[in-house]
Amino acid sequence: MYDLVIIGGGAAGLTAAVYAARAGLDFVILEQDGWGGGQITSAHTVENYPGLPNISGADLGEAIKSHAVSLGAKIVFAIVDEVRNCADYKEILLHSGDSVRAKTVIAATGASPRKLGVDGEKTLLGRGVSYCAVCDGAFFEGKDVFVIGGGDTAVEDALYLSSICKSVTLVHRRDVFRAPKTRVELLREKDNVNIICNATLNKITGEERVDGADIQTADGNRHMAASAVFIAVGSEPATAYLSGLPLDFDNGYVVAGEDCKTAVGGIFAAGDIRKKQLRQLVTAVADGANAVAGVTDYLKD
Ligand code: NAP
Repeated sequence: MYDLVIIGGGAAGLTAAVYAARAGLDFVILEQDGWGGGQITSAHTVENYPGLPNISGADLGEAIKSHAVSLGAKIVFAIVDEVRNCADYKEILLHSGDSVRAKTVIAATGASPRKLGVDGEKTLLGRGVSYCAVCDGAFFEGKDVFVIGGGDTAVEDALYLSSICKSVTLVHRRDVFRAPKTRVELLREKDNVNIICNATLNKITGEERVDGADIQTADGNRHMAASAVFIAVGSEPATAYLSGLPLDFDNGYVVAGEDCKTAVGGIFAAGDIRKKQLRQLVTAVADGANAVAGVTDYLKD
């Protein structure tokens, strides 16, 4: 029986590990990709993490992970199917058929890319359709590509791709961007970037590989050739494995306060899966620390 099982090895989970190690807890991190680092590892650059004005997401993810591991954190490859709240412990059921017991759980499984659900999105995934510009952008060097979305991710992806690809067409469903004005302006200044507002992606075309997309604008539907479509329309929380618990959810996000306490004693929600105002790296790491404070309090009782 562990004191604590941390589910998810992203920024929130790894920060929780740093704090749990320093608090002398017996704990393990369960991570489904076996490697850890989380969503931040797909960010090209991170410019808003205090003290590190220009670091790659991969380097920052790796640094947080190394910090946790250097303090003794153990990251175990495991897919969690369910968490059960038993009388004296929590039971974590794994996809492998095994289970793990712990006095407390920090759920820090983050979020995964939102899908558009258009034709071609699923069938051409990995063959021109991508949710990660940093991971896949280099495959499209010198090519024409689309980016879909109007948030930070879409604009940062478009900026990154504009330095690699022949042209980038950003398609956004409104004419107001969630991304900061300064970054949108920077994008507008790029010679090889075309921004189409008030438009939606209707269909991704291609047989073996992406060869274009149908874009719906006020003037009608038009087909444009391209080699790749990078979809950056936000993310959805990975909370399905918690659905059997009497937790409160809001649009799939776990309702928990800044202290990360959920409606079930001993179960904490940290990082992007928690309902909150601002989902950023800094708020994820803050959650990791707060959740462990909650865990140590709970274990005292
Ligand atoms: P986001 O802020 O939720 O933006 C999603 C974008 O996709 C919005 O422009 C949205 O349009 C659009 N969208 C959503 N569903 C759509 C659909 N079905 N069809 C077409 N468009 C759709 O997501 P994000 O950009 O991934 O950012 C997530 C969080 O991470 C944010 O808090 C962001 O600030 C943070 N982040 C920060 C950085 C950074 O600071 N460097 C980098 C990446 C992400 P509408 O605007 O019309 O809703």
